[in-house]
Amino acid sequence: MIDRDLCLGTGLCVVYAPQTFAHDDETKAVLQDPPHDAEGDVATAVEACPMGALALRAPSSAEG
Ligand code: SF4
Repeated sequence: MIDRDLCLGTGLCVVYAPQTFAHDDETKAVLQDPPHDAEGDVATAVEACPMGALALRAPSSAEG
C-alpha cells in the first residue's frame, strides 16, 4: 500500500524495489503492475521510506 499523501518522491523505494515501485508524473510512488521484486527487497523498500508512506499488505487483501 502506498499513502500518496505522505510520499515526498525521494525515490528510495524505486531504488530498492524498482520492479515494484515507480514514479508517476507527480514524482510520487506508484505500484508496478504486476510487481516483480523479491519479498525481501520490497520489505527493504518499505522500511527505507523516510515518510512511512509504504506498508506491506497480504496479497489476498481486497482493500485498495
Ligand atoms: S521512499 Fe517513500 S517518500 Fe520516497 S518515493 Fe518511495 S513512497 Fe515516496
